[in-house]
Amino acid sequence: MANQLTRRDGIKLAAGASLAALARPAIAARKLGNGHFDVAIIGAGVFGTWTAWHLAKSGRKVALVDQYGPANARASSAGESRVTRLGYGADAIYSEMAANSLPYWQALSDRCALPIFHQTGVLWFSPGENDYMRQSLAWLKANNRAHWYGDAAMLRARYPQMRFEDGEGGFLEKETGALIASRAVQTLVEESSAPVIAAKAGQPARRSDGAYQVTDGVTANALVYACGPWLSKSFPELLGNRIVATRQEILHFGSREGDRHFAPPAQPVWADFNDGEIVYGLPDLEGQGFKIAFDKHGPRIDPDSQDRRVSAATVERSRAYLARRFPTLADGPIVHGRVCQYENSSNGDFLIDRLPGHDNVWLVGGGSGHGFKHGPAVGERVARHIVDSTFAVEPRFSLETKGTSASRSVF
Ligand SMILES: Cc1cc2nc3c(=O)[nH]c(=O)nc-3n(C[C@H](O)[C@H](O)[C@H](O)COP(=O)(O)OP(=O)(O)OC[C@H]3O[C@@H](n4cnc5c(N)ncnc54)[C@H](O)[C@@H]3O)c2cc1C
Repeated sequence: MANQLTRRDGIKLAAGASLAALARPAIAARKLGNGHFDVAIIGAGVFGTWTAWHLAKSGRKVALVDQYGPANARASSAGESRVTRLGYGADAIYSEMAANSLPYWQALSDRCALPIFHQTGVLWFSPGENDYMRQSLAWLKANNRAHWYGDAAMLRARYPQMRFEDGEGGFLEKETGALIASRAVQTLVEESSAPVIAAKAGQPARRSDGAYQVTDGVTANALVYACGPWLSKSFPELLGNRIVATRQEILHFGSREGDRHFAPPAQPVWADFNDGEIVYGLPDLEGQGFKIAFDKHGPRIDPDSQDRRVSAATVERSRAYLARRFPTLADGPIVHGRVCQYENSSNGDFLIDRLPGHDNVWLVGGGSGHGFKHGPAVGERVARHIVDSTFAVEPRFSLETKGTSASRSVF
C-alpha cells in the first residue's frame, strides 16, 4: 500500500524524515476519499509541482507521486540555486516563457517567508562578437526589458572584483537573477495542497472503468509523468535515447572574511561566453558561497546510482577559471559541492506531449540544463492541456521532434 502523506509531510520527507516516523494515525485520517484523483503527477520536481499548483488553482483534485520525495537529493530540481534569465539567443520561445514565468516566481517569493527569487540581475559577457549574446540583447531591446550594455572599461568599473580583457563587452539583464531551488519546490507542494504519495509509479495501467491505477489504492483520470532524468528509465523503449541524463558538477567557493564583493548587490549572476564554452555562476546567496559551473554536458549517468562526489578535475578547472576572472576567490575554500544531472533532449527543447496511445497521459521533461526558470510556464501549459483537450501541442515540445542523437542548439 502506498503511503499517502500530507504536503507538510512531503516537505519533512524531503528533509530526510523517515517514512515510518511520518506514518502517524493523524495522517492516515487525512487520506482523501477513495484515493481517486483528477490528475496524478508522477514526479515532484519543478515541472511536476508547478503543474500541480496550476491544476489545483483550476479546481482539480491532484496527487503528487514521488519515489524519493519533493526536491530529493537525486532530483534535478534539488540544491540551492538556479539562474533565471530572459536572453535565449534566437530562441524567443524560451525568452517569452521565462518572461511569463518571472511574475509567478516573484509572487511566490513574496508569499513565502524566505526569498525564492533574488533579483540580482544577470551579467553576460564574452571575449568578442558573439551571436548568442547579440541576439539575446536584441530580444531585450525589442521587448523593452530593463538592461544596460557596456565595454570592458565599464565592466571593470562596475565589477572591480572581476577581470575583463580589452575588447570584451557585456550586458546586464536587470529584472532577473537567482531562484532558490529546493525551497521553491517545497513551497509549491505546500501551496498546491496535493498529498505526496511516496511510491515509485510504473507505466500507465488503465482499468476497465477508464481510470488509471497509479499505486495500490490510488487511481486517477489523467497522468502526468514529470520524471526529470528518470523519464527514460520509466519509458526505456520510447525515450531511452531521447532523454539522456548527463553528470554535471558544481562548486561553491568562500570569499575572504568580510569581503562582500561576491554577494549581492555587488555581484550579480554571471555567464561567460568563453570562446564557445559557457561558464556561469551565482553570487553568494544566503551565505552558501559563490557558485561556479561549466555548462558542457558531462558523461551519461544513472540518476539513481551515480557517484555524487565532485571530481578533483572539476576542482582544478574551477580554480584555474577563477584565477583568470575572479582572482581573489581562486585559492578560497570550497564551502559546498554538488553533483547533479541534466536530462537532455537531443537539441535542448522540452518534451510536453501525450504518451502515444493515451489521450490523458502526458510526458513532461527534457529540461536540458535550463528548465528550472520555466517551471511556472511549463506547469501552466501542461495544466491547460489537461483541462482543454483541443489545446495544441507546441511542435518544438512534441515527441515527434525529439531525436536520438545529441545536437544541442538551445542553451
Ligand atoms: C547542476 C544543474 C544546474 C542547473 N542550472 C539551471 C539554471 O541555472 N537555470 C535553469 O533554469 N535550470 C537549470 N538546471 C535545470 C533544471 O534544474 C532542470 O531542468 C529541472 O530542475 C528539471 O526538473 P524536473 O521536474 O523535470 O525533474 P526533477 O527535479 O528531477 O523531478 C523529477 C522527480 O520525479 C521523481 N520520479 C521519477 N520517476 C519516478 C517514478 N517512476 N515514480 C515516482 N517518482 C518518480 C523523482 O524522484 C524526482 O523527484 C540545472 C540543472 C542542474 C542539474
